[in-house]
Amino acid sequence: MERYQLTDHDKRLIEIGLDVLKKNFDDGIYNHTVGCAVLCKNGNMYKGVNCDGIHGSCAEYITIGSAISAGEREFETIVAVHDKHLNCVIPPCGNCRQMLYEYCPDIKVIVNDEKGQLIKVKARDLLPFAWEPVIC
Ligand SMILES: [Zn+2]
Repeated sequence: MERYQLTDHDKRLIEIGLDVLKKNFDDGIYNHTVGCAVLCKNGNMYKGVNCDGIHGSCAEYITIGSAISAGEREFETIVAVHDKHLNCVIPPCGNCRQMLYEYCPDIKVIVNDEKGQLIKVKARDLLPFAWEPVIC
């Protein structure tokens, strides 16, 4: 698995994710407890928080959906955050790993490594032997 060092853009992404979470945090009715930010290949950034409910949706889904709704299709880096987690970064859940794999397998995801250091890895490396749609 290839590992990438964080850039200033990546640190900014973490700040943006924490900011959108701070502005929308709710651990009561709506359960907005995760922020997210994505950097597109063209330099645009999008942000979002998770949405709770019967089916709920992780912050990564909301953020990628927001970017796609704005016409974006090429993604560079994504991060999910909460200020109480190690380095404020949360690894994507299995469902989000699959979504990222299907939409943008080469997007870099900011995670903590085994030593607790922030690194970036490709979404495809977070989900070996992933399910893929069969095109007949
Ligand atoms: Zn998720």
